[in-house]
Amino acid sequence: MKAAAVQNNKFVIKNIPKPMLDEYGYGAIIKVEGCGLCGSDIVKLKQNLVQDGSVLGHEVVGEIVEINSNTPFNIGDRVVLGHHVPCFYCQYCLDGSYSMCRHFKSTNIIPGGFSEYIYVSEEHLNNTVFNANLSLTSIEASFTEPLACCIRAVKRARIFDNANNLIVGLGSIGILMGEALKAYGYKVFGCDLIEDRVNLSQKFGFDRSFLIQNEEETIKEMKKIAPLGFDTIFLTAGASSSLEFALKTARDGAKIVVFSSIKNDNGFKNNDIYYRELTVMSSYSSSPVDLEDALNLIEEGRVKTEGISVVYSLENINEALNDTVSNKIMKAFIKI
Ligand SMILES: [Zn+2]
Ligand SMILES: [Zn+2]
Repeated sequence: MKAAAVQNNKFVIKNIPKPMLDEYGYGAIIKVEGCGLCGSDIVKLKQNLVQDGSVLGHEVVGEIVEINSNTPFNIGDRVVLGHHVPCFYCQYCLDGSYSMCRHFKSTNIIPGGFSEYIYVSEEHLNNTVFNANLSLTSIEASFTEPLACCIRAVKRARIFDNANNLIVGLGSIGILMGEALKAYGYKVFGCDLIEDRVNLSQKFGFDRSFLIQNEEETIKEMKKIAPLGFDTIFLTAGASSSLEFALKTARDGAKIVVFSSIKNDNGFKNNDIYYRELTVMSSYSSSPVDLEDALNLIEEGRVKTEGISVVYSLENINEALNDTVSNKIMKAFIKI
């Protein structure tokens, strides 16, 4: 079968063996309809975090074509999924840190979503695979996993009613985060350096988004909405300057939710956190219940995804990669 494998910080299209159900016993083979290209895939590829030959991609939508399982799934089911499965009984899981569970980290789909077929285990079928409504487009369905990650961040932040929440970075994840906040009834403000993204966020129901041209001026404008500063700040941008910006726009006592990888790891300032009683926290990946919540929100039309992704074929996955990295597009969907 065809797959896009990592090689020298790029993708190469290769013919690799199709996963066979016989090899694994229980589980299912899914024919991949398409798979979103996630920011985390790009970080893994660009920063040599995976070995050459690895197949990335986890925002999968597809159809079960072979199955040997005690679950109610059948051949022909259209599904979306999460690629990692928590154990539910370790110290991490009991504390709600499902994505820190060692079992979670050791489980995965085989070989990865940028291929024609994947294998999912019985454990996946039991916990992180969900039937997706046939009326959803492939792209809509593929947003289940990234939206689930945002939903988990919103839940973890324990936001109070009427809080002023700011999203720093309005790429695809920033937009989804805003939609997740809105779906749960919270106020949401956004900011970005790119005008198109600021405008797009308004179409997705943000209460207001700011184009950062002159930082001081922007902060002045923001103070009109949140005179003391924002109560919660979600960092969905990859630039280290966003850390400074968060400190400038946070109210004393605010929560800062870290939701992106930053190349130059400068860290936060100890004394800002201490004297201003800031809570700096993160949310990484999603749990099974968040996946289910995400799919429901998409199916109910409460989270919309139209206009976020651009479709590329598997053969053109490097173009998708380059266009995403250069901010030409917000997100790529790889049609398999
Ligand atoms: Zn993802
Ligand atoms: Zn666990």
